[in-house]
Amino acid sequence: MINALKDCQLSELESYPVCIIGGGAAGITLAIALSRQGKRVLLIEGGDWKEVQNNDAYTGEAVSPHATTTEFRYQRLGGTTHLWGGRCVPLDSYDLKQRDYVPNSGWPLSADELFPYYSQALDYCDAGENDFTVNALRNQAAMFEDLKQLNGEIKELIERYSLPTDFAKKFGAELKSSKHILVLKGTRVTSMHMNKSGDSVESIELNNGESRLNMKVNQVVIAGGGIESTRLMLATRKHTPAWGRFDSSLGKYYACHYDLIFGSLRFNQNKPYFEFEKTMDGVYARRKLQFNEAFLDQHHLLNSTFRLHFPAYADPSHGSGVLSTIYLAKSVLAKEYQAILNHGGQEVAGNRQYFAHVSNVVTDAHSVAKFGMDWILKRQLAKRKLPYTLINNKNGTYPLEFNSEQVPDKHNQISLLDAVDRFGMPRIKVEWRMTDQDIDSGIRSFQLLKNLLEKTDHCRLEFDAKKLEEGVSSALPVGGHHIGSTRMGTSDSNSIVNSDGRVHGVENLFIASSSVFTTNGHANPTLTIVALSLKIANYLQ
Ligand SMILES: Cc1cc2nc3c(=O)[nH]c(=O)nc-3n(C[C@H](O)[C@H](O)[C@H](O)COP(=O)(O)OP(=O)(O)OC[C@H]3O[C@@H](n4cnc5c(N)ncnc54)[C@H](O)[C@@H]3O)c2cc1C
Repeated sequence: MINALKDCQLSELESYPVCIIGGGAAGITLAIALSRQGKRVLLIEGGDWKEVQNNDAYTGEAVSPHATTTEFRYQRLGGTTHLWGGRCVPLDSYDLKQRDYVPNSGWPLSADELFPYYSQALDYCDAGENDFTVNALRNQAAMFEDLKQLNGEIKELIERYSLPTDFAKKFGAELKSSKHILVLKGTRVTSMHMNKSGDSVESIELNNGESRLNMKVNQVVIAGGGIESTRLMLATRKHTPAWGRFDSSLGKYYACHYDLIFGSLRFNQNKPYFEFEKTMDGVYARRKLQFNEAFLDQHHLLNSTFRLHFPAYADPSHGSGVLSTIYLAKSVLAKEYQAILNHGGQEVAGNRQYFAHVSNVVTDAHSVAKFGMDWILKRQLAKRKLPYTLINNKNGTYPLEFNSEQVPDKHNQISLLDAVDRFGMPRIKVEWRMTDQDIDSGIRSFQLLKNLLEKTDHCRLEFDAKKLEEGVSSALPVGGHHIGSTRMGTSDSNSIVNSDGRVHGVENLFIASSSVFTTNGHANPTLTIVALSLKIANYLQ
């Protein structure tokens, strides 16, 4: 059932044994998994079926280059899955390990405890089987012929793509019809009230913008997304002296992953597999390259991935009518995507460039027409959508996209400001930067990949060595990945939650979010968020 606060009796709300705060990927997964086990759950969501238009609750401060606090976050049933890209990637078992050269690394959780949940998580995300090897593809040949010459220093894996599944659409009917679920929409939880010793949540404060109300609770799971989950914990800490024990990690160790496009791969013989492919089970997938674990350890590198990218659309020398069409139509693109399509660079569009783009469109009209048809059939009409457009560079080179883990650093943090939003909740400030270790690891990853590829007959990595440091240092945080600020660990001296996702020393409070990730790997977070939510559901059943 789905109801607004004004239509509910307090006694009815208080009767639910589990209360979940936030109805995004994490919250909906939990609600569905628990209700299917016969557990009654109250799912409290600040938004409704449509996006909340008033951004006041998310307005805060963010230090550049981090996105503003209102970007990349959506307040509606389904949360940010309303707009996510659907890329599903599990953590590597390596990510969970304690590594001497990565400060604050080491999850209190083994791969054996977490990874079994990936199969079910993939099912929730509509992303197929739990196989991320090339063997899962219909075409199982290597990405390029020379890969076998690299003696296993580099491995090829795939990333799977969700429909992309909007969790509110997928599970909406079940949320409405399940007799075990009540969704309380349009209601924000602005604070939690603890008992005196801070070891049990007694009540939470509900606020629909018109009235506020204290509701007694049994078990509580915070699933408000990486930033909002942290904010609710920080807001509660403000009036809970016993939670001073969390001050060394609450809000701290925030990470996003960093991403850049730099250099390019040149193949002198056979072209690599570049386009989206289908897995045996009919899911879109893309190939990617990673250093293997022994190589990462040997060179003290952070975990990362390399993907072949399409050329910068603003540069007409790519010769592609499709990219030029996108360039000419750029005004219809969301601002954040323009920078990505242009490889983070600034566009310098002169008349000559403009005419070169028009010439590309005219001479490559056949590709533009095919692209248009594909766009309609595979993007607009298909249920499983082609994730995005990939266009080859006609000169045979492939820009390289690099996506890396960051060291968990306590200076990267989310903190509360004095100012409050219209619900009376303190606004937040987000501070993010790359550490020297992040930058050093990125630089050496490019250099080492270049050296490795020298061993092959036909594949070379080309880049301007003088620009490498500047390129890596100016990488951007990936928007929408909000990680680490209520981290998982062994005790309250180094973390907020334990391996069950339960807040240390608080008997009835759990967090289901990327904010609990101890380290961030390079994997996009949602598949792991869903896996951890299923793990919590299993614990609470
Ligand atoms: C453009 C974009 C592309 C992305 N692409 C990918 C991708 O390809 N792969 C990937 O893995 N990830 C991707 N992500 C990230 C992905 O969307 C998030 O990891 C995922 O949605 C997080 O799920 P969540 O449930 O933790 O939080 P959210 O989806 O943010 O949901 C949280 C919900 O909780 C509600 N809420 C918050 N606080 C409160 C409160 N106090 N009271 C009541 N309700 C509250 C919010 O209204 C929201 O609906 C992308 C993100 C963006 C923005």
